[in-house]
Amino acid sequence: MSIAYMKPMLKTAQNGNYGVAAFNMIDYNSARAVVDGAQEMNAPVIIQLSVKTIKLWGFKPIGDWVRSLSNDVDVPVALHLDHCTDLDVIRGCIDAGWTSVMFDGSALPFEENMRQTKLAYDVATSGGVGLEAEIGAIGGTEDDKFVSEDDAILANVDECIEFCKNFPELAVFAPAIGTAHGVYKGEPKIAYDRLKEITNVVDIPIALHGGTGLTGDQFSRCISSGCAKVNISTMHKLQFIEGFTALKVEKPTLGEPIPFISAQYDLMKQGVMEMISLFGSEGKANKV
Ligand SMILES: [Zn+2]
Repeated sequence: MSIAYMKPMLKTAQNGNYGVAAFNMIDYNSARAVVDGAQEMNAPVIIQLSVKTIKLWGFKPIGDWVRSLSNDVDVPVALHLDHCTDLDVIRGCIDAGWTSVMFDGSALPFEENMRQTKLAYDVATSGGVGLEAEIGAIGGTEDDKFVSEDDAILANVDECIEFCKNFPELAVFAPAIGTAHGVYKGEPKIAYDRLKEITNVVDIPIALHGGTGLTGDQFSRCISSGCAKVNISTMHKLQFIEGFTALKVEKPTLGEPIPFISAQYDLMKQGVMEMISLFGSEGKANKV
């Protein structure tokens, strides 16, 4: 099927109490692992891109890869832009076939975040695609931006209300709730109470950032509290590398590249299927 829209996908997930997995693709092989894993689980899925990855491959090749992969399966695959502060990148994605984009103004003071998010909201809405926006500060490293644990700030509930009132057509809303990007150094401190307070007053589906390393229980609690989009980046990246290196250790003299690509694909696809199973979206492809 053609590339799906994230907004109806997430609204259905929110109502059905399950999470849709969003993986940060790296290259064609990684996108293929995500799409095939979703197909095997009969699940909706989101492929998202960091700005860095777009700068490596270009808008058009990525749009073409995901479009062709999506056309070959009968599960909905959405194409989303992850954390971005640049309206030109947002426009480039919309032109190349992305069905949703994220504008991340979370490093800005609240009023300025609203002002700049409005610009992105107008670009996305007039381009017919969904927007994800963030408030508060999610810890860890995303692209080249690092937020220390001390600087991570939970989203303020009143600000969430005001923000979402201004952007009623948001596809998904990302308030910081204590999760962090990258690999958790200690026990993740998820502010479930804050998440509940937010979802009690905000009806837009919530995005859970920093999903790598959370336990099944932690995912379940977040999803049952309103997180409909669950981001998995670090795990997928590590499996991308591990797929190659594990085979190299096992067969150090192997000089043929295709077995490495296959090993990498198998490991990433297995990870994709495990996450889909954990988030409860297995068998939900036809609901969207
Ligand atoms: Zn994120």
